[in-house]
Amino acid sequence: MKTGSGSENLNLDAGQLSLDFANTMGWHASEHPVEKLHSYHDVLTWSANVGLITGEEKSQLSRASKSHAKQALQVYNKSIELREALYRIFSAFTMKKRPDASDLEIFNKALVESLSHLRVGYDRGKFRWEWADAKNSLEQILWPVVRSAAELLNSEDLERVGRCEDDRGCGWLFLDTSHNRTRRWCGTSCGNRAKVRSFRERARAHD
Ligand SMILES: [Zn+2]
Repeated sequence: MKTGSGSENLNLDAGQLSLDFANTMGWHASEHPVEKLHSYHDVLTWSANVGLITGEEKSQLSRASKSHAKQALQVYNKSIELREALYRIFSAFTMKKRPDASDLEIFNKALVESLSHLRVGYDRGKFRWEWADAKNSLEQILWPVVRSAAELLNSEDLERVGRCEDDRGCGWLFLDTSHNRTRRWCGTSCGNRAKVRSFRERARAHD
């Protein structure tokens, strides 16, 4: 399993691994969110897509999940619980609100478990982060996500975390890398819609 020194090498839409994970529910801030992860296999596919595991590791974990279906379901439920807690924690921050203690508790529990697998290894003259006991552990896909969230929550980049302001409840989280930190929307579609609407409102005001 790839570890790297964080998520900086991953080319992700949201700009940060844990935000990308939090965005695996569509219309997250609306009354009718759209789930994109329906099974442990979907979580695995997402992990492979963002480069956390190789295709080979995905096949191995997929096989392991089939022979341990009950455990795979538990890890899936845990993934969703963790994702929702993360989403609420980051969302609260973007709204300058205090996160719920229960969400921090869910996150910290996952943090303790994840970091208990973190090791410093040594290979060819270099030290590097490694995850211990990863082989066949169905939960390993969550460890780097949790670590990435903990790092972001404790970094200056946290100030750059934003949530799409689309009024229909898009709710997509992103890392605002714009120079003046003026980003307000997830991408072009929500941004264009808001611009068209404000143009119409202005035009109406002039009627
Ligand atoms: Zn949006």
